[in-house]
Amino acid sequence: MERTIATPPPSAPWAMHVEETRGRRFPEPEHPYRSAYARDRDRIIHCRAFRRLEAKTQVFTTRYSDHFRNRLTHTLEVAQIARTVAGALGLNTELAEALALVHDIGHPPFGHAGERKLDELMRARGGRFNHNLHALRIVEHFEQRYLDFPGLNLTFEVREGIIKHSRDYSETEFPELHEYLLDLCPPLEAQLIDWVDEIAYNTADMDDALEAGLLNLGVLCREVPFFGAAYAPVDAAHSLAREKLKFNEALKHVLDLQVTDLIESTQRRVLASGVSSTEEVRRAPKRLAGFSEEAAAQNAALKRFLFAHIYNHPAITEDRDRSVKCLEELFAYYLANPGSMPASYEEFAQTEPRHVIVCDYIAGMTDQFLLRQHYEHSGG
Ligand code: MG
Repeated sequence: MERTIATPPPSAPWAMHVEETRGRRFPEPEHPYRSAYARDRDRIIHCRAFRRLEAKTQVFTTRYSDHFRNRLTHTLEVAQIARTVAGALGLNTELAEALALVHDIGHPPFGHAGERKLDELMRARGGRFNHNLHALRIVEHFEQRYLDFPGLNLTFEVREGIIKHSRDYSETEFPELHEYLLDLCPPLEAQLIDWVDEIAYNTADMDDALEAGLLNLGVLCREVPFFGAAYAPVDAAHSLAREKLKFNEALKHVLDLQVTDLIESTQRRVLASGVSSTEEVRRAPKRLAGFSEEAAAQNAALKRFLFAHIYNHPAITEDRDRSVKCLEELFAYYLANPGSMPASYEEFAQTEPRHVIVCDYIAGMTDQFLLRQHYEHSGG
């Protein structure tokens, strides 16, 4: 069969070209028409942890409505924006898409509150929890799908991106991550993900908050002036139109402004740095992808608004606090009761400390599954 390429190869010299991949842990023959990164993307979409994102909270629980974002639809929005940004920059869109699809796969139930609680429970026992490290455990160990190797056997660059897309890790603190070139920057495709993630969730959270009746448009326009500047002309031109449609129009404009700034600012920094390959991107003194100073300030104002008015709104926190308490009680239950987890986890607990495996088991749960388990084990 003749090799055909479905997606055009990246055009920029500083893109991560798949021919230069550091490869997989367990070597595999090449596929006749899918690149290694396209296969990684497909493996991610077909894995169990990916499907579970559907039943994990982003910000709003399903108690509010069935059409709010969950972690899966958020992930699809990130993937869509990441492809666009990577394509506009001549980067590897297949790698960017794989990284976007996998970026939240290690998220425990109940969003960041769940992550903080698991971390607190682990720290009390000399460990820690964070969703990037957990994502790596999922794709390396917990996904059991293939006869020839454990995990998904993803390429080095996807595993590296899982670890480094949103922060740096020091070699002294995380010696187990040694192989991921911790003193170097990740390729631009991975550097983009954190920014795209922010753009996606900031705009989506405003949208869902308005639908939930938690967002006051007047206050938003006042406290986030660049949103106000996007809304005013729409409002003036369509004074009789429904407010929600005018809001949508302004939101679309804000998303577009942020994406355009990310593309242009990244391009500008890459050109100014003089890098001409991924290896030079890696060795640059700091990451090159990101907003301009102006867009960063606008984004910060938006985040401040969301924290002040939405994320800490009692309608959100009451639900969250109750759920996080269930998580804590369930952790204590599994820890104190050997044999209470499924056989495969009990087996892992023979060779690793029990609290680590309890943490893995709970982190993998969907919100509803956790609440059901809690209900059953607390005597109903
Ligand atoms: Mg995310």
